[in-house]
Amino acid sequence: MCGIAAINLEGSGRKKTELVGLLYKMLLQEQNRGQLSAGITTYDKERARLIDTYKGLGSVNEVFKLSHNAQRKAITNRYAGSKGIGHVRYATSGIESDDYAQPFEKHHGRTWKWFCFGFNGNIANFAELKKKLEGDNYHLVRNTDTEILMHFIAKQFMGSKKRDLVGAFSALPEIFDGSYNISYINADGQIVVLRDPTGNRPLEYGNSDGMFAAASESASLNTIGIEKSKALQPGEMIIAENNSFEVKRYAKCERKAHCMFEWVYFANVASQIDGIGVYDVRWRLGKELAKKETEKADSNTIVVGVPDTAKPAADSFALELGAPSQEGLIRNRYVGRTFIEGSNRSEKVRDKFILNKSVLKGKRVFLVEDSIVRGTTTQTLVEEIKSIGKAREVHVRVSCPPIRYPCFYGIDMSTLLELAAPNCSTLEEISSKAAFSEKHNECIRKRMCADSLIYQGIDGLVNGIGLGKKDLCMACLNGQYPTPYGEKLLEKAIENFKAGKTTRTYE
Ligand code: SF4
Repeated sequence: MCGIAAINLEGSGRKKTELVGLLYKMLLQEQNRGQLSAGITTYDKERARLIDTYKGLGSVNEVFKLSHNAQRKAITNRYAGSKGIGHVRYATSGIESDDYAQPFEKHHGRTWKWFCFGFNGNIANFAELKKKLEGDNYHLVRNTDTEILMHFIAKQFMGSKKRDLVGAFSALPEIFDGSYNISYINADGQIVVLRDPTGNRPLEYGNSDGMFAAASESASLNTIGIEKSKALQPGEMIIAENNSFEVKRYAKCERKAHCMFEWVYFANVASQIDGIGVYDVRWRLGKELAKKETEKADSNTIVVGVPDTAKPAADSFALELGAPSQEGLIRNRYVGRTFIEGSNRSEKVRDKFILNKSVLKGKRVFLVEDSIVRGTTTQTLVEEIKSIGKAREVHVRVSCPPIRYPCFYGIDMSTLLELAAPNCSTLEEISSKAAFSEKHNECIRKRMCADSLIYQGIDGLVNGIGLGKKDLCMACLNGQYPTPYGEKLLEKAIENFKAGKTTRTYE
């Protein structure tokens, strides 16, 4: 996944020392997109180090520590500049090490060939491209698609005597299969933000009072005062330099494939993606889910949304069901991610959520989840709501259809074995992409120990998002991948499933 950001202050009248603070605020609004690492690269033509990067492991606050006065002054002065890019990381490729924190830098003596960039997406043909580079005697320092991307971008400038950014980036669709949004800055002070030709991941841009910015989340633009943002179209890039910016087409869009999971779970609830509000979609998904309801509410019934992402769907579902939506689970917003990751499954859930026993005791709980991926969180929640919360019944309702296939485009679910739904299916059903049936539903319900389980249907999801099916990627639901490598990797994932392997399919 990850989140990217870019900003140009030239022509805005703002001071160079404001740059770090603005990038920091933008990254905070993208924190939902990755907490493994955070970083920025800024440009200042007065510095010897024209582009300079500050990055580290952890959440934005852990990395920047701006609440410490001395640290704030040191960072804002050292990285002061007129332009910059930012990144937050979530790993779908590579390990959790500060060596993998972005932006990545490719140094070169010529300023227009010296660049830094941040990447949001996942390269599906990573393994093949890695072999190709190694065959060309490249030495790769890390095992990540971002390094591959860096070398291929650099290759486009090789031997070239002129600065042709559109020409350089227009080669990417020939090389890469997958999803790749990029924010790039070079030592000439040129920014490029680019959305891949399927528009798989969101990318918004806008300007206000002479300041230009772009980001994975429109909420990032709102937080720095850009109220109106626009979606960069699939296959488009923006070049921002001096005090202006220009939108250019670098690739043809053969087919849009916006990731449905962005609206369902991943994106900031305050953002808009391609003109459609994330909160609005989640609210509509709850209404669609209620259309499938078979149970009736009684005076003892409550609806509990799993915080925070399922909250809007839970609220609208409750309204339709005629039962109150209550906070039976309280999210602990302050526990560090690394601390949670070190715990066992049950501890992880308890670290993340506190059970509100006075709300749950003796109730028929309709637990609304945004999605069931591995199923471990939902299963633990059901068990604990019953055993500790003393609820009478727990009925699980899911605002996304069953996740039945891996994702090769940037969500960390790249094997079949880790998913709840395939583990309730036969190999033949998986390979033939057979429809999800009552038999599968019952198998998952039993594993969850839920009193009943209802998933959103595909039509309900499509209605909720409000875009035509043809413009959405729903490969993890139906096994129909929008790119050729998606189909190839599914074959490999099925082989791994047969062999009981959990290795990432694209590595
Ligand atoms: S496979 Fe699923 S999670 Fe991955 S991009 Fe497509 S819709 Fe999104």
